[in-house]
Order: sequence, then structure tokens, then C-alpha cells
Amino acid sequence: MPIYEFHCEECNKDFEHLVLIASAVDGLTCKHCNSPNIKKMISTTSNQPAKGAAIPAGALSGCSSSSGFS
Ligand SMILES: [Zn+2]
Repeated sequence: MPIYEFHCEECNKDFEHLVLIASAVDGLTCKHCNSPNIKKMISTTSNQPAKGAAIPAGALSGCSSSSGFS
């Protein structure tokens, strides 16, 4: 599930919000001061690994060697 991180320009606080569709962020307000003056930030959720980390380096090298690269 995409959880976006927002930064409020009014109270300078960060908060997270679960966003199911991109347009849902329209009209979203700060959880702390209720201000609409917020910025969406790129958030990497901790409960899902990064795409680069999903493939171990050993798997890549083993694949290339088994394909007759040498
Ligand atoms: Zn705020």
C-alpha cells in the first residue's frame, strides 16, 4: 500500500498518509494544523524492500556466468 509522506509548510511537521489514488491527495490537509499548504515527499515504506535490493548481487553474477558469458 502506498504511504506518502507529507511536509507541512505551515507548522514544519511531517506526517504520513495512506494514498490509494493519486488524486486523493488533492484537498488533503496537515494532520497537525489542518493547513492545505503541504508538500508531498517521496516515501520509502519500511515494510517493503527497495527494488534494487530485491535481487541479490550473487544471483545476477551466477546468471551471467551460466549463460556462457565466459
Ligand atoms: Zn501543519
